Amino acid sequence: MTVLAVAEHRRGELRDVSFEVITAGRELADATGGELHVAVISGAVDEYAERLNREGVDAVHTVERGEEFNHDVYVQAIEQLADAVDPTYVVAPNSVNGLDYVPAVASRLDLPLVTDAVALDVDDGLTVTRELYSGKAEGELDVAGERAVVTIRGGEWPAADGTGEAPIDSFDVDVDESAVRSTVTGFQEVGAGDVDITDADVLVSVGRGIEEEDNLDIIEDLADALGATVSASRPIVDNGWLPKDRQVGQSGKVVTPDVYIAIGISGAVQHVAGMKGAETIVAINDDPSAPIYDIADYGIVDDLFDVVPALTEEFSG
Ligand SMILES: Cc1cc2nc3c(=O)[nH]c(=O)nc-3n(C[C@H](O)[C@H](O)[C@H](O)COP(=O)(O)OP(=O)(O)OC[C@H]3O[C@@H](n4cnc5c(N)ncnc54)[C@H](O)[C@@H]3O)c2cc1C
Repeated sequence: MTVLAVAEHRRGELRDVSFEVITAGRELADATGGELHVAVISGAVDEYAERLNREGVDAVHTVERGEEFNHDVYVQAIEQLADAVDPTYVVAPNSVNGLDYVPAVASRLDLPLVTDAVALDVDDGLTVTRELYSGKAEGELDVAGERAVVTIRGGEWPAADGTGEAPIDSFDVDVDESAVRSTVTGFQEVGAGDVDITDADVLVSVGRGIEEEDNLDIIEDLADALGATVSASRPIVDNGWLPKDRQVGQSGKVVTPDVYIAIGISGAVQHVAGMKGAETIVAINDDPSAPIYDIADYGIVDDLFDVVPALTEEFSG
C-alpha cells in the first residue's frame, strides 16, 4: 500500500503545508504498512525535491512542467502518477490550489474525496475528522472502500523534519496539451506591497480591545520592537482599520507562526480557527475568563494599554 502526498509551492517557494502533508501521509503509510511517495509538480522541482526529502519519505517524484500551478497539468500529472504508484491514499493540502485540482483528480481516479481533514485514522478503513459549525463540533467520516483522496487543513500536522534518503525520480508526464485550457499569466497580491501574514514567524494580533484606530500605533510599536508582523481579528478589518489580508480566522487567513500574541482578542471560535496552529500563543486580555485563555500558552491578565507599551519598552532596550 502506498500513500501519495502532493506538495505545494507558490511563486518559487515551497509552502509550509508541503511538509505537513508529508507528516499526514507518513501517518497513513505507517498505519497501512506502506510507503510514502511525495510528488512535486512544476517550478524548481529539483530544488524542491531535495527539501521534501525528509525522514519517512520513501520516494520523491518530480514533474517538470511550467513554473506555476496549473489545474490541467496537475490533474494529468497526478492521474498518471497514480497509475504508476497505485496509491491507496492521495493526500493534498486543503488550500486554494488543492481545492482546485483535487476534486478533478478524485473524479478521474473514481475515488471518494474528503476535504479539510483535521485528523486521520486508519483502522478498518479510513476515518477522517472534520470540524463542523465553525469548529464548535467535530465529525468523523468513515470512508467507504479501500482507497481515498483527502485534503488536510494547514497547521493541523507538524511539519516533517529530518533529512531523508529517498530516491528522487523525474516522472515523465505525457501532457495532453489540448486539455490544458488555462494558463497563469501573472500574480497579483491583494493589497500589493503588503506583507503575507501566513509567512510571518511572529504575529502581533490586535482585536476589538484596542477600541480606536488611533490606538493601533501602540500595536505597531510593539511589532517593530519584536520584528513582528501585525495581524487582526475580524472587527478591526470590518472597521477598515487594517486591510482584509491581515485578518486571521475562519473567513480570514490560517496562520502558523512560531509566536502569536493576541492582544484584546476574546478568542471566538471563528478567530481561533485561524491561529490555533501557532506554536506559542500569548494572550493579553483584561478578562481572565476570555476563551483565548483556553488555548494560550502564556497570558497577561491586564489592561493592554498598560501592558503593550511596557513590553515595547522592554523589547526595544
Ligand atoms: C461566519 C463568521 C465568520 C467569522 N470569521 C472571523 C474571522 O475570520 N476572524 C475573526 O477574528 N472573527 C471572525 N468572526 C467574528 C467572531 O465571531 C468574533 O466576533 C470576533 O473574532 C471577535 O473579535 P475580537 O476578539 O477582536 O472582539 P471581542 O470579542 O469584542 O473581544 C475583545 C476582547 O478584548 C478584551 N479587552 C477589551 N478591552 C481591553 C483592554 N483594555 N485590555 C485588555 N483586553 C481588553 C475583552 O475582554 C475581549 O475579550 C466571524 C464570525 C462569523 C459569524
